[in-house]
Amino acid sequence: MRKLIAGNWKMNGVQANLPQLDTLAKAHDNASVDVVICGPATLLGRMVATGLTIGGQDCHPITSGAHTGDISAPMIADTGATYVITGHYERRTDHSENDALIAAKTAAGWDAGLHVILCIGETEAQYRNGETLDVLRRQMDHSIPDAATAETTTIAYEPIWAIGTGLTPTPDEIATVHAALRAHLTARFGASGTAMRLLYGGSVKASNADDIFALPNVDGALVGGASLKAADFSPIITALE
Ligand code: PEP
Repeated sequence: MRKLIAGNWKMNGVQANLPQLDTLAKAHDNASVDVVICGPATLLGRMVATGLTIGGQDCHPITSGAHTGDISAPMIADTGATYVITGHYERRTDHSENDALIAAKTAAGWDAGLHVILCIGETEAQYRNGETLDVLRRQMDHSIPDAATAETTTIAYEPIWAIGTGLTPTPDEIATVHAALRAHLTARFGASGTAMRLLYGGSVKASNADDIFALPNVDGALVGGASLKAADFSPIITALE
């Protein structure tokens, strides 16, 4: 699998921000890594028109029906987007999403032909109590459906305390966690688990990207704040290439 760098625009972005994507598309049209922007539902179709690979940030577990305000995976695919994030901590927290729901959303993403970036991560209290690996293994066991393959699924490790805070684990800590995630995925999914991309997410920026991308079992990053402007995101893409 090629390495992957994914931007998560969260609840940001209006049409006036689209030129940022044109700049990115021009600068990285021949990228040796996969570059994806996960945008707000309101912009997905227009984002696809830039030529970049585009994803949604969440999907409903069923295809259509009486769910006011929700977006289904086939609706995301209909825009031309090809990726979707599931299990982001802001969904787990703001919308009380549990692992079972995230597993259902992940399967819905696959059914619509979308590649799923499934997020896991521990709280600061769990990190301080030394519970990180137990939490992550539990989240993987309950939120990754059995049918996951490297072609359909990427796992993003995002320590909750590192998201949007400017804090990151040390390189040694990231390497230790990613080695444990890799071992767990290989034990469960065999060769597909060994090939499944493992992203790090949480305050990745140009100044720390080189160090993070040099670590074993880090196959790219999920980037929030630093993905909003081409000038910030472009050097991170280049660091992964
Ligand atoms: C995220 O929201 O997935 C994220 C990693 O955010 P940030 O890069 O801003 O920490």
